[in-house]
Amino acid sequence: MNNSITLQDLLNKLREYNPEEVEIVKRAYEYADTLHKGQMRQSGEPYISHPLKVAYILAEMHADRDTICAGLLHDTLEDTNITKEDISHDFNQNIANLVDGVTKLSKMNFSSKKDQNYANTRKIITGITEDVRIIIIKLADRLHNMRTLQFKSEFKQKENALETMEIFVPLAYYIGAYRIKSELEDLSLQYLKPDMYKKIEERKLRLEESSNDCLKEMLYKIKTLLNDKNIPNEIKIRTKNIYGIYKRLNEGHKLSDIHDLLALKIMVDEVENCYRTLYLIHNEYHPINDKFKDYICNPKTNLYQSLHTTVFGPDDRLVQTQIRTFDMDKVASFGLTAYWDEQKGKARDVMQDDLKQKFQFFKSLTEINSMFGDNQQFVNQVKTELFADKVYVYTTKGDIIELPKGATPIDFAYKIHTDIGNTMVGVFVNDEFVPIDYALRNKDRVRIVTDELSYGPREDWIDKAQTSLAKRKIKEFNKK
Ligand code: MN
Repeated sequence: MNNSITLQDLLNKLREYNPEEVEIVKRAYEYADTLHKGQMRQSGEPYISHPLKVAYILAEMHADRDTICAGLLHDTLEDTNITKEDISHDFNQNIANLVDGVTKLSKMNFSSKKDQNYANTRKIITGITEDVRIIIIKLADRLHNMRTLQFKSEFKQKENALETMEIFVPLAYYIGAYRIKSELEDLSLQYLKPDMYKKIEERKLRLEESSNDCLKEMLYKIKTLLNDKNIPNEIKIRTKNIYGIYKRLNEGHKLSDIHDLLALKIMVDEVENCYRTLYLIHNEYHPINDKFKDYICNPKTNLYQSLHTTVFGPDDRLVQTQIRTFDMDKVASFGLTAYWDEQKGKARDVMQDDLKQKFQFFKSLTEINSMFGDNQQFVNQVKTELFADKVYVYTTKGDIIELPKGATPIDFAYKIHTDIGNTMVGVFVNDEFVPIDYALRNKDRVRIVTDELSYGPREDWIDKAQTSLAKRKIKEFNKK
């Protein structure tokens, strides 16, 4: 595999969207190259090939100047003799902060049991929210390390793959960077379960071959329908990533039952045309009623938007179609990093604002931080609340609420409103009365029964709640 990137490649990529910053990026490269002189990667390549590739991954996302420079310099604090102050002096404060943030994040040890480590981990976790670009650089770093993991020992491979699944896949999800997320998942699985990975890969390949005609036929038919109505469009064939298939098989599904294994991604110009497209498709192919999802009016907590509908395609094959605008597709692939392309110079501020106001991840993190004085408890809560699987349930109005797996109606009630939690006397899930510590499951419809005259939340609810928000509200109520 020869995919080595040269400085010229990086500069050419940069010229496509930000030609005026070529000089400083070149200087950052030469600076890093001099500092890493003599160091080698385990692949036998000179060390600089790694930061160069990281910077290139960032340039592919159209990252701003400071991010690209920090990508080139990201390992200099750790592996060479210079200091943060040197970088600040030779480049600027922003670049120095980014490199410093990435360096600290690299030292984070989520699984260590030492006390001092908990304090450190906490500092790092709260630190990354100050500039989301730190997370993005770290994701690019991890992506390249995972792509070149074959040169490491088997022990290191497994350790890195596990850590990637535990920390970096959730982080990529939280900022909506699905492309990075699914590549990291597949690379991890490849090292964690190599036999399984190969088996699924082969089956997937066979399936892709056998369904290619069917998908193409559908693609052309839908394209013709859209063109006839003058709806500007682009349609792509996409199959689920290997990890996604693995997860489903693991849950007991058969390959033939995975309804979104094969998908057509249909991009159109505007929101109204998404719904027009939906009608045209349903009119042509029978939809499966309960597989329809409207993430346009109900976006995911990482701002993903799209219409999903699974239909009976040619040869009775189930095919999922994902319908969204071109803009939504950018967010769906790149998440927060899509702003680099859209907002140019203002991107950094817009990213931070959005992170604070719209992304669930940041809100929960702030909540946990204010709630737990003890570092160990803080780290454990972040693990169970943010880095665990999620469940999605409905309110009576049909809003979708995201909660950590294991969450109970208590968490649900407080997430809707403090008063609802404080006056809750009972709960119905899918029209059945359930106990208050019932573990919510995907697609549950939850109705909370409240009574103004209730005594308020009982102290033992604290242990039955999973989220810091609910725990804090119950404590606050009982203090009064
Ligand atoms: Mn690195």
